[in-house]
Amino acid sequence: MSFIEIENVDLAYGGAARGTLAVSGANLTIGHGEFVALVGPSGCGKSTLLKLIAGLVRPTAGRVRVGGAEVTAPLKIVGMAFQNPTLLPWRSIRDNIMLPLEIVEPHRRTLKQDRDKNVARVDALLARVGLTGFADKMPWELSGGMQQRAQLCRALIHEPSILLLDEPFAALDTFTREDLWAALQDLWQFRQCTVILVTHELREAVYLAQTVHVMSARPGRLIKQSSVDIDRPRTLATTFDPQFVELVHQLRQAISDGKNL
Ligand code: ADP
Ligand code: MG
Repeated sequence: MSFIEIENVDLAYGGAARGTLAVSGANLTIGHGEFVALVGPSGCGKSTLLKLIAGLVRPTAGRVRVGGAEVTAPLKIVGMAFQNPTLLPWRSIRDNIMLPLEIVEPHRRTLKQDRDKNVARVDALLARVGLTGFADKMPWELSGGMQQRAQLCRALIHEPSILLLDEPFAALDTFTREDLWAALQDLWQFRQCTVILVTHELREAVYLAQTVHVMSARPGRLIKQSSVDIDRPRTLATTFDPQFVELVHQLRQAISDGKNL
């Protein structure tokens, strides 16, 4: 059964009559634990689709369902990370990662008594992304790539069933970004949560996702869906496989065609 269902969704910022139509007639289903990438030209409505799933905006038409229930308010079972690390500069890495626990129930209620358990969870996540020993550092003591790793930990600390990533690696240099692909793949295999990754980097999409969805230029429609049947764990060497290269090429073509629809 589908976990996330987007059914005939339109989203017009500023209202149906005179607003900006950002997403049009979107249909998309995502399975429980699936890793999906969403690609398309700038301004085509990718971030808007994430906001619709998170319940941060309501569709102008159509329906968004998660776990069979219509999304009518911001979902608590979501973790999010964005392009620019948004770690609070006056908090240590550990306290930054714990932030969602101070906000999201049921963790909030048991924050004090669970302190030791939570510290252990932070440490386990940090170890997973190669940041053992950095919990007591301040954000400015970490490189951009390390801050992004910490941000992934923060997005996962409350054990969300959906992880929404909006171009999380876009501001990083190529080498750092490619290291983070491996870290994210590992986190997903470890946690098995549903991941929706928005990216304009097609190699990143094919490296990480089971399914890549292509959106057309605004108003964004979903115009192509590609399954990535490549074994895991995928590595940088995988990106040179003919099958990988061919898929990236096909996606590039689909995006180019989608600009002229
Ligand atoms: P993408 O993430 O694919 O670059 P967005 O989903 O951010 O695209 O935006 C899709 C379209 O909706 C763009 O034309 C953008 O200018 C417009 N848009 C996004 N957010 C708002 C908003 N809060 N108010 C009005 N228009 C918006
Ligand atoms: Mg965006």
